[in-house]
Amino acid sequence: MLEIYNTMTRQKEVFKPIEEGRVRIYTCGQTVYDDVHIGNARTYSSWDVIIRYLRYKGYDVFHVQNFTDVGHLTDDADQGEDKVEKRAREQKINPWELVDKQIQEYWQVVDYLNIQRPNVSPRATALIPEMIEIIQILLDKGYAYEVQGNVYYDVTKFKEYGKLGRLKLDEEKARARVDQDPLKKNYFDFALWLNARKGDQVHIMRWNSPWGEGYPGWHLECSVMGMKYLGDTLDIHGGGIDHIPTHHPNEIAQSEAATGKKFVNYWMHAEFITLNGKKMSKSLGNYVTAWELIDKHGGLVVRMGLVSGHYRSAVDWNQDVIEIAKNNVEKIRNCLSAIENSSGGSEKTLEQAIENVRKDFEEAMDDDFNNPKALAVIYEFIKNINSSLDNKKEILIKARETLLELLGIFGLDFMKKEEGVDIKLNELMEIIINIRNKARKEKMYKLSDEIRDKLKEAGIQLEDTPEGTHWKIAS
Ligand code: AMP
Ligand code: ZN
Repeated sequence: MLEIYNTMTRQKEVFKPIEEGRVRIYTCGQTVYDDVHIGNARTYSSWDVIIRYLRYKGYDVFHVQNFTDVGHLTDDADQGEDKVEKRAREQKINPWELVDKQIQEYWQVVDYLNIQRPNVSPRATALIPEMIEIIQILLDKGYAYEVQGNVYYDVTKFKEYGKLGRLKLDEEKARARVDQDPLKKNYFDFALWLNARKGDQVHIMRWNSPWGEGYPGWHLECSVMGMKYLGDTLDIHGGGIDHIPTHHPNEIAQSEAATGKKFVNYWMHAEFITLNGKKMSKSLGNYVTAWELIDKHGGLVVRMGLVSGHYRSAVDWNQDVIEIAKNNVEKIRNCLSAIENSSGGSEKTLEQAIENVRKDFEEAMDDDFNNPKALAVIYEFIKNINSSLDNKKEILIKARETLLELLGIFGLDFMKKEEGVDIKLNELMEIIINIRNKARKEKMYKLSDEIRDKLKEAGIQLEDTPEGTHWKIAS
């Protein structure tokens, strides 16, 4: 029986979907103004393992994940700037262009890390009419109020506001760093709609609405998308732990006030990756991008590093994580080639182990998706295989298939042919890019362009960014 830790009740609960055999899951996605860092990638990999395991168990899973391309302000108290517009201005490009670029980058990372794409990945800006509709309902029901072209949610109208985060609003307010926005009635009220004009600045991404030209607040998109694609009540809603105090309580307040129904049955939250003990975040600027690591170590090793811990345990990212991941990948590869090279014998001792590994693996995963325990079961199985290469060849092949299937639930695809080559290709590309960078430093632009063009002819595309040169196989 699968048990899931529900943040709402702070305990593990037996999982029972609304509709038998189906799971409706929503996970908060990327704010597309910057590269995917490994903290983001770890959270997305965690959902991927969970979804793959649910599918393995026979559930028909429908997964929705958003792209936040508007309305996520630099300050949670609605007084900051839109992250996308701010970054676009810094880069002197149009915000729509920035968003497109970042979404493309996002898909590349997701594919390299072998994260299954969601069934639907809507952009916030694609659902403006639906958002306006929900705001109107909240206004009509008295949960929201309009001030100078902004619409705010009045948290005092929603009886259970902050229950998920166990917030004691008075204490939180006393601790808060930001002064109350003078337009708001209460400190924790949050924006559903923002006036496109602030002082002499005009928001580029803006839409007409009954309250004038504006754009939606960040929290609204997740409520609206969840309800549009999954119905009024979702089975599972996931996000990083940073969403427990504000973003998710706001989603609950919006959705439940609008529909009068429970919004989510199981709230799941992924712990953070830290760097030298500090939260890794785009806004703090202390992050390692997923690309950097994929470029260096290949998708498989990075993916192994990302899924080796429990999704509810924090990880401090350091060289050890990669080294351990490399060793484990090697251990698995060695076992697979030992099976391949073995001509088999007459023993049958592995049969029981094949049965046990599946059972023990499922037991670990049924316990709130305990990756480290399930991986330990797999490593034990590998030890068993290595000392049983004298088993009948068909038993060895069955052991190999079981191994590959269970590893597949972690998104570890050892059959991807290019992976072995990939790592050499990564090293080779690092050398070529370094030589090209030297050429550019010496102002030998003709040579550096020639390197880029020749690579393009060979099907490899280089992209020069402020953070360095990335490469990818041209599609
Ligand atoms: P963002 O693009 O900042 O909105 O974040 C996208 C997703 O990544 C959200 O679910 C966040 O909770 C999650 N996230 C952000 N930073 C980290 C981190 N350091 N470790 C793990 N997950 C993170
Ligand atoms: Zn969200």
